[in-house]
Amino acid sequence: MLNTDTHWLEQALDAYLKNKALQNAARKHDGYFHPSQAGKCPRYLWYEFKGYQKDPVSIFSQRAFEEGNALHNLFERIFKDAGIVYGNEGGVIESPENLFNKFKLDIPIRGTFDSIVIHPYDKSLYLVEFKSHKDVKDNGNSYSKPWNKLDSPYMDHIYQWQLYSFLTGVMKGVIFYINKNTLQYKIFEQEQDKDIIYDIIEKFEDIYKYVKENKLYPFQPNENHVWCLYKNQCQFDYLKETGDDGKQFFKRSIHITNG
Ligand code: SF4
Repeated sequence: MLNTDTHWLEQALDAYLKNKALQNAARKHDGYFHPSQAGKCPRYLWYEFKGYQKDPVSIFSQRAFEEGNALHNLFERIFKDAGIVYGNEGGVIESPENLFNKFKLDIPIRGTFDSIVIHPYDKSLYLVEFKSHKDVKDNGNSYSKPWNKLDSPYMDHIYQWQLYSFLTGVMKGVIFYINKNTLQYKIFEQEQDKDIIYDIIEKFEDIYKYVKENKLYPFQPNENHVWCLYKNQCQFDYLKETGDDGKQFFKRSIHITNG
């Protein structure tokens, strides 16, 4: 039925985004761990691997996602046009056959790094990870920090950069934040840290065992459940596992809607 409160053009654009989200949700998992998910809750990654349905997200989250992608693409192009990019652009990389020979299981990892640039003076290579950042208010309700309090990268982004460093073999680089409101930059230098990489791979290896054994990964009480997109499924399973609805863990966040 036509919603007369919203302009037809807005309805058409939102219908496109909703349809796109549905198609993404219906896409089969590719069987790989992804560097961008290295910081996520292991039970979340288990649901992802097993192809469970995510909770619906608001249209504003979908619009913000598109905005972030567009900014990301813009900066990839500016870097290329500036003539500092090594090779042509970022690319898809996968885990080598035997990770470090330390791990008995091969862990499938695949990701698309953003860019590798050449330092203008010493000609060394820098692996760049772009992140757009909203300048949020400091009210404690947001996953993001206010821009003026962003004095180091988010741990998720460090994990992501470290895995790309491992997969590309580029030992140093930057996490490059772009303020969506003001277009200011914050650039944090990084160096490869094998301890962090081992920890992530051990985490993936642990989750992968549960995936292969088809055993639900245990509930993680200390994770940040607020922004989790598998909260409905996780709560349902938690209730089955414990007989308790776990209300203290499964509070709704503002981006979860019913439609
Ligand atoms: S609700 Fe919490 S424990 Fe469950 S998958 Fe999400 S983050 Fe993990």
